[in-house]
Amino acid sequence: MSQASNAALRARDLAHVWHPCTQMKDHERELPLLPIRSARGVWLTDHDGKRYIDAISSWWVNLHGHAEPRINAAVQAQLAAAPHVMFAGLTHEPALRLAEELVALAAPGLTRCFFADSGSAAIEIAVKMSFHFWQNSGRPRKTRFVTLANSYHGETLGALAVGNVELYKAIYRPLLMDVITTPSPDAYQRAPGETAVDVARRRGAELEALLAAQADEIAAVIVEPLVQCAGNMRMHDPEYLRIVRAACTRHGVHLIADEIAVGFGRTGTLFACERAAITPDFLCLSKGLTAGYLPMSVVLTSEDVYRAFYDEYAKLTAFLHSHSYAGNPLGCAAALASLAIFREDRVLERNRDTAALLEKTVRAAFEDHPQVAEVRCSGMIVAVEYVRERETRTPYDWRERRSLAMHRHALERGVLLRPLGNVLYFMPPYVISAAEIDTMVSVARTAFDLALQDR
Ligand SMILES: *Cc1c(COP(=O)(O)O)cnc(C)c1O
Repeated sequence: MSQASNAALRARDLAHVWHPCTQMKDHERELPLLPIRSARGVWLTDHDGKRYIDAISSWWVNLHGHAEPRINAAVQAQLAAAPHVMFAGLTHEPALRLAEELVALAAPGLTRCFFADSGSAAIEIAVKMSFHFWQNSGRPRKTRFVTLANSYHGETLGALAVGNVELYKAIYRPLLMDVITTPSPDAYQRAPGETAVDVARRRGAELEALLAAQADEIAAVIVEPLVQCAGNMRMHDPEYLRIVRAACTRHGVHLIADEIAVGFGRTGTLFACERAAITPDFLCLSKGLTAGYLPMSVVLTSEDVYRAFYDEYAKLTAFLHSHSYAGNPLGCAAALASLAIFREDRVLERNRDTAALLEKTVRAAFEDHPQVAEVRCSGMIVAVEYVRERETRTPYDWRERRSLAMHRHALERGVLLRPLGNVLYFMPPYVISAAEIDTMVSVARTAFDLALQDR
């Protein structure tokens, strides 16, 4: 293993690498890059030997901890057998076993799996498939997509177009297809006296009216069930999903569920849609699919959708979309090992206790703080929304970069946090222990206080 120091690696990195979602200039002064030598369980170790708790599961992908022995073994076995083969014309047992297991686990009616290599690619596929379905079905005017305010679906042009986070989107607007944006059922924005369910019903009624008026030109509604993760961890009541599902069915519009971040137990159930007992027309999965091991995604859809593409080749109705690494066997092996761990370790059951402890610990540390507007939770996601002024919920000016300061103070003390906007959140690997929760939250509280000190 490399004995290079943090400093040596930082210098080499800055010479040639360009990192995702980063103003590279920040890494010269404000926030030194963190070179990681090894990762095990919830811990990351840098090249100077310092350890950090990965409180955000490495961008929400990790589930069972880093270097999980059973997943390592499964990937190694597959590496020896066949690391990769193309997935057009060829098939392999890891992919078909994974498809069988996903179909068995997903909501009834989702029977077909289309594999790809990233979350954004899964969104592109769902969007193209829905559009194409209507073309193949004699409804060529149904070409538009409805998206929720504050939603995030990825960075490729189609995914960016159906997303709604201005920071990522604004500059590219001339390149993006036009979408219809409907208000989010975000419970943080409830009016005085309103409950989360009330907001869900109010926003659901608005969506229903939109579909009633424009369903002729709408292909699909795309939703992140329960939590808009990149949209500052805003949460809504499952009632909204029931209303949207019913409205889509009534008006002949597809429902695309983007469970890229919330799938695989993050919100408490294996899939977030289970909380509303609904079946979307398209279910997009990635991130936790391989438990944070390999880039892979899948779109599950119905027999009804599949049938609209199925015909003689000469009819030219096939879905001719592809990615070179679609169905990658190593990714499938990791995903199968992860699903086995869910069963063997009764992960969802264990997570109920872990999530309760995490929530209790975060509430105790943050809820009464004068700069905390809300602590909200959904399974293994706990978010703390902070504000300059609690009464009016006035946020800090983004130029103050309080979240960057929080991130830096936490890193210095051995916890990897990466607050989003004005939201500090915890989304740890499921294997985090009670002692590690304590350390993580107490470091976060210290970093929080330091970052919010007046300047
Ligand atoms: C991360 C994310 C995506 C994009 O996935 P990538 O693999 O980063 O392309 C899409 N939707 C949601 C909800 C996500 O959290």
